[in-house]
Amino acid sequence: MSTSNSITIGEVIKKGAEYFAEKGIDSPRLTMELLACDVLGVERIGLYLNFDKPLHANELSRLRSHTARRAKKEPLQYIVGSTEFYKYKFSVNESVLIPRPETEQLVEKAIATIKAQKNSSLTVCDIGTGSGCIAISIAKEFPAITVVATDISTQALTTAKNNARQLEVLNIQFFETSILSENPPGAPFDIVVSNPPYIEIEEISSLQEEVKSYEPMVALTDNEDGLSFYRALSQRFDSLVSNGGTMIIEIGANQAEKVKELFEKQQHSVKVFKDYSGHERLIEIKKML
Ligand code: GLN
Repeated sequence: MSTSNSITIGEVIKKGAEYFAEKGIDSPRLTMELLACDVLGVERIGLYLNFDKPLHANELSRLRSHTARRAKKEPLQYIVGSTEFYKYKFSVNESVLIPRPETEQLVEKAIATIKAQKNSSLTVCDIGTGSGCIAISIAKEFPAITVVATDISTQALTTAKNNARQLEVLNIQFFETSILSENPPGAPFDIVVSNPPYIEIEEISSLQEEVKSYEPMVALTDNEDGLSFYRALSQRFDSLVSNGGTMIIEIGANQAEKVKELFEKQQHSVKVFKDYSGHERLIEIKKML
């Protein structure tokens, strides 16, 4: 019920946007709208259609709490509990990295590679699956193939399994293991994909607050020079990838030369691809038949 001192959706969005702007939050108005959408359970159009409607006390208090969290730099995706990636909506929480748009290119490349192989009994492995975004997007596209997804974190695997269930994916097997110590069960695979923790430990302090204070360290950095996972992937390449198979991995800005060198040292042929912002972002290594 509306009362004389109640605040409307339009007013709360305006106030929240001003507050976020003061606090230096990116896209203040959009952020406030998305938080309001989450609390009210509507799409953005629903906000615009109801600008003059008063908020219920419980909605206002939830929105206040959301706003306070974002003002403390907690990522929007953790507050609302999900993000869009490739064709789907994934649940996320502080035990998994928030899927990034750059990584969608890895998924597209993997899907194109699988299509080109015309083999319905292909096997795919995603190393360090996190939320499961890569493995699940691939598995959804090809229900007949088998996908193995690994992670060292039990909580990440719980989130990934939950996402697989939500998106009704049945062709993924999850394993708790690290490529730094062993090969995943089922190796070798026809396609190996990975977006490993590649940030150098020294760079962590210079990252955005949203990333360094909220995203899981185990998903961001190897605690060394950022190359540990590429070293492990290159050393294990022969036992990880089947003859005629392909490895597609994401890399950080400025890592292309070093990562290329690691694989070329092992006599593999390597291709580097740029992302839409022009950064070298993906490396593809093919194993000869
Ligand atoms: N594979 C997941 C992603 O790309 C997690 C990556 C990670 O935790 N480093 O989002």
